Amino acid sequence: MGFNRRKLEDQRREAAEREAARHRATDAQMLDDAEQLIAAWNERQAKRMPMLFSPTIGAAITAGYWFLWVRCPACRTINAIDLRTLDRHHDAAVTSLIPALSCRSCRPNAPFAELVRLSRTSIADEMREEHRWRVLGE
Ligand SMILES: [Zn+2]
Repeated sequence: MGFNRRKLEDQRREAAEREAARHRATDAQMLDDAEQLIAAWNERQAKRMPMLFSPTIGAAITAGYWFLWVRCPACRTINAIDLRTLDRHHDAAVTSLIPALSCRSCRPNAPFAELVRLSRTSIADEMREEHRWRVLGE
């Protein structure tokens, strides 16, 4: 009885370990896919190519691209939205946010915001980085 139970526990533990290993492999693959997808999307956005697909909010957050940069076509202001702070379904595409992102200063006649890119940094981070490079360059 004691032996059988130990054997059963060993089997359970091994099964749990296999399952955990499988999850880790899936997570790594998903992260890889998400990064490639976002890189391709960013490139298309930079070239202003027509929208063929859009990463999901969940994919962007998983890959660490927490900030969605949006530009107002009217006043050219760029803002970064922190996707982690949004109360949205993670399977929704980042493009589904467009109607909610219209520029505050151009209201009530603000045009739809343009999605610039998904970024690992906010605008403030980027400006600090630029400043650092300028200082280093001098
Ligand atoms: Zn504006």
